[in-house]
Amino acid sequence: MYLKRLDIQGFKSFADKIDMHFEGGITGVVGPNGSGKSNISDSIRWVLGEQSPKSLRGSKMEDVIFAGTTSRRPVGMAEVSLTLDNTSQMLPIDYGEVTITRRVYRSGESEYYLNKSSCRLKDIRELLMDTGIGKEGYSIIGQGKIDEILSSKPEDRRLIFEEAAGIVKYKNRRDEAEKKLSSTKDNLSRVADILHELE
Ligand code: ATP
Repeated sequence: MYLKRLDIQGFKSFADKIDMHFEGGITGVVGPNGSGKSNISDSIRWVLGEQSPKSLRGSKMEDVIFAGTTSRRPVGMAEVSLTLDNTSQMLPIDYGEVTITRRVYRSGESEYYLNKSSCRLKDIRELLMDTGIGKEGYSIIGQGKIDEILSSKPEDRRLIFEEAAGIVKYKNRRDEAEKKLSSTKDNLSRVADILHELE
């Protein structure tokens, strides 16, 4: 599985639609300071569900929308689509290509799509779980990330190994099952109370 294409429109410095096609192997992005190299990696993290404006070098989510320049009016929407080659079927979905799209409007309204069908962020997170690609995955190593990993608490570092070992989805399912179990227990005890009152 590899990153095949990235389509960006209205995101940060990319006012116009651009599409980048990647081949397997290594791709380098070069350009002068401030030309938008880091905005490309920001767009990848954003489309994968990043929720923190700070880690996208902004103060609020609206900052990812092209804010205009002296010669260009701001736009009202940012959209990024990331296409992964899935011929290896690493992602458990019956498509050879998987396109994840995220769109945000100035009103704050946000939308996610999986192969052009509207979906929830949760669906994208579940699909990418244990692949290392997700927002918390180790496939995007930003500046300072290595230091952060080395100096983080052993429990935090363990999360990276768990993702690589492919057990995060099982842990998540266990947590969800435990939550359901606990709410069922609450309901049962409420029913027992009602029965007791009726007796
Ligand atoms: P360097 O090599 O110095 O790290 P870079 O090529 O990585 O630079 P970026 O940090 O990706 O550059 O891009 C910074 C540029 O993006 C700045 O010119 C900034 O004004 C522009 N920019 C960021 N957010 C927006 C936005 N919402 N609207 C318009 N332009 C934006």
